[in-house]
Amino acid sequence: MPFTAEHDALRESIRAFVTKELRPHAEQWEHDEWFADWVFPRMGELGLLGLRYPEQYGGQGGDYFSALVLSEEMAGCGSGGVGMAVAVQTEMATPPIFKFGTEAQKQQYLVPAIAGRKVAALGITEPDAGSDVAGIRTRADRVDGGWRINGAKTFITNGVRADFIVLVCRTGAQEDGARAITLFLVDKGLPGFAVSRKLKKMGMHASDTAELSFTDVEISDGAVLGEVNAGFYHLMWELQGERLIGAAGAVAGADLCLQETLRYVKERHAFGRPIAGFQVTRHKLVDMATDIALVKSFIYQLAERWDRGDYPVAEISMAKLAAGQMATRVADGCLQLFGGMGYMDEVPVSRHYRDSRLIRIGAGTDEVMKEIIAKTALGL
Ligand SMILES: Cc1cc2nc3c(=O)[nH]c(=O)nc-3n(C[C@H](O)[C@H](O)[C@H](O)COP(=O)(O)OP(=O)(O)OC[C@H]3O[C@@H](n4cnc5c(N)ncnc54)[C@H](O)[C@@H]3O)c2cc1C
Repeated sequence: MPFTAEHDALRESIRAFVTKELRPHAEQWEHDEWFADWVFPRMGELGLLGLRYPEQYGGQGGDYFSALVLSEEMAGCGSGGVGMAVAVQTEMATPPIFKFGTEAQKQQYLVPAIAGRKVAALGITEPDAGSDVAGIRTRADRVDGGWRINGAKTFITNGVRADFIVLVCRTGAQEDGARAITLFLVDKGLPGFAVSRKLKKMGMHASDTAELSFTDVEISDGAVLGEVNAGFYHLMWELQGERLIGAAGAVAGADLCLQETLRYVKERHAFGRPIAGFQVTRHKLVDMATDIALVKSFIYQLAERWDRGDYPVAEISMAKLAAGQMATRVADGCLQLFGGMGYMDEVPVSRHYRDSRLIRIGAGTDEVMKEIIAKTALGL
């Protein structure tokens, strides 16, 4: 088992926090399509936004498994959007700052993000480029003493509430594709940087998703994150850790959905017996439990390799693909077992059904995962 007594203690304390301080608000936050602004500072205060960052930046100095524990336990807060917003902060937007940032950038962005004083977003996707990251068109052009940004991003998680964004920009010719992309750290308040729209979604309701526009936004040279024109490769590194954590969260969500359903099938009666009394029901649930156990153990095995510094791209892509497909299959099967009640907003399985659908799209679609696997594992 990859988890130590320390991880177990961490899990217990996160579970207590999630149950006492987040879960009671889930319905309200889903309804408001916004979770309370105190969540980030409170999680920062508890040390939960920097579990695997060094203490010198305000982190807890833990390993990758501590981040995995957080992702799994956040599934229990009853609102997928809250876990997703936190994962964007801890696993998407800040890892490139830690790995590629200068000391000044770490002090200005990483330290307050870990403390929960600043909210971060990561801006890759554009109205005309999602899966094809190398096709992005938001430009950063060199000007005297810095850069000028023009363009638009869409579907950006935390985009409305973020204080800054790790922005992916084209810094050369469009034909140069992946070789002319650079990451920048851009503050929300700068003239020309606007949230053009808060988007309405089918699920993940408590999380805010934005369309952002950039019109002649001026930034200094100090805003370049990592190497100029190496942004695509910096991002590809970041995406692996993010995909694995996302997959772990999806499996934890599926597990909770299964637990809810196990309770329901014992209570709900039809034809004079609990619906768990039908063999077809039991077998369905056994299939789900088996799928969850298999994907979970694959993820743990990969997390150990990632923690050791391995870079198993094909296998992480397989894990994300398998977790997404499994989570949506489980959500669909559980909803079916709830019958008409499963279609009602008031039961957690219907929310899980909507929320879980995202894992097969965000951070690389199923089809993109298959293309990576075809290339890296099958030589196709
Ligand atoms: C709720 C939500 C939150 C998000 N958060 C963020 C965020 O914080 N930051 C961010 O940058 N992005 C974010 N995204 C964007 C997300 O990463 C993209 O939606 C995703 O990568 C797919 O891109 P797309 O929507 O442009 O789809 P497209 O690329 O247009 O794809 C459309 C369809 O074509 C398929 N397709 C594309 N290329 C191929 C191919 N080569 N072979 C086979 N099929 C292919 C896709 O698999 C898909 O089925 C978020 C999206 C959502 C819905």
